[in-house]
Amino acid sequence: MKGKIDQWSREYALQKDQMDNLSHFRQEFYIKEDVIYFDGNSLGLLSKRAEAALHHLVESWKRYGIDGWTTGEHPWFYLSESLARQTAPLIGASPEEVVVSGSTTVNLHQLVSSFYHPQGDKTKILADELNFPSDIYALKSQIKQKNLIPDEELVQVKSRDGNMLEEGDIIARMTEDVALIVLPSVLYRSGQILDIERLTAEAHKRGILIGFDLCHSIGAVPHKLSEWNVDFAFWCTYKHLNGGPGSVGGLYVHRRHFGNEPGLAGWFSSDKNKQFDMEHELTPAVDAGAYQIGTPHVLSMAPLIGSLEMFSEAGIDCIREKSLQLTDYLLKLISHELEGYGFSAANPADHQARGGHVFIEHKEAVRICKALKDAGVIPDFRAPRGIRLAPVALYNTFEEVWLVVQKLKTIMEKELYKQYENKRGVVA
Ligand SMILES: *Cc1c(COP(=O)(O)O)cnc(C)c1O
Repeated sequence: MKGKIDQWSREYALQKDQMDNLSHFRQEFYIKEDVIYFDGNSLGLLSKRAEAALHHLVESWKRYGIDGWTTGEHPWFYLSESLARQTAPLIGASPEEVVVSGSTTVNLHQLVSSFYHPQGDKTKILADELNFPSDIYALKSQIKQKNLIPDEELVQVKSRDGNMLEEGDIIARMTEDVALIVLPSVLYRSGQILDIERLTAEAHKRGILIGFDLCHSIGAVPHKLSEWNVDFAFWCTYKHLNGGPGSVGGLYVHRRHFGNEPGLAGWFSSDKNKQFDMEHELTPAVDAGAYQIGTPHVLSMAPLIGSLEMFSEAGIDCIREKSLQLTDYLLKLISHELEGYGFSAANPADHQARGGHVFIEHKEAVRICKALKDAGVIPDFRAPRGIRLAPVALYNTFEEVWLVVQKLKTIMEKELYKQYENKRGVVA
């Protein structure tokens, strides 16, 4: 009989892979043999099912022409709603509360223009100083649309350490002058999860509406948006959901807000049975469908049909469990194997507060990322000194985690990073 396997060995990783009950999904993705892809939180990989779904819809265009809107296996006219049914379980919403439409930034504009009604002294939007720039630009321009001044009306909660937010600090700033709150579910750099349930309850106690950007959590972390009474949410589908570059995003609106007019209306905001009456008086859909604007980008939604099927088969709770095991393992190996090389883990340690990726900092991060790329690893550099590593549950392995840390160790031991220029590329 063999003895216990050394926990720092490659055999240990291989054993974890053997026990992994999601491992069969890996073969459904296009994975390059000599590359370890740890950037699925920026752009998820293509799967064969997503590719087949895209081909299927191109075929329906070829075969049916305009009749494709209502004919075939996936009639285009109802695709935003049928994809919503596939998405709803990932965020804990009912299908009518979800629609697949627009993009992160467009949906944020739509939702803020629908939910932000500054009145009297209640005029401010509360956000944070660590959010992704696009969200902040959108909030500022929405404030300008109301003839108000962004510097006065946008409140950005400060981070104490530059990486995380204190929920207490956010709650302390939920004062009477705040009309609306928009926060990320998972911070895109440090991967910190905000406690959506708690923040929503605190906002509602004070009569403030609250919405969340789920870009970095959807497909990686389960949510219960309806149960938590979250007012609205929005996300992209090209990160953990593997919908492809520029794939169509999604949004959620809690059912208690059904029946309101969308801030930005268009003919796809319409009740579907009335849409082709072509009247100039809009009858909005009675559910989240009302927040659509124009003709759906059918070919950019198509891959999601196949991709979301895998999430349904795997189950978001199992995906989350494996994701945590992968990031636990990665963090453990980093602290053991790379000790003394100047790395620090800047993501939360707690399972409750850690999203789907790991965030480590090093003063030579730019050059280390370049060396990693040449060593066949795709990381994600975040200025000035951050390295994001996302081992993704559906297609990455424990062995890949082990290999990445070994490659990092070689780069540090042999100072290979010193061969590279200290300058970042155009994308990231
Ligand atoms: C990825 C991401 C975006 C991107 O917005 P798009 O409109 O899809 O370009 C916006 N906000 C956050 C927090 C993101 O992570």
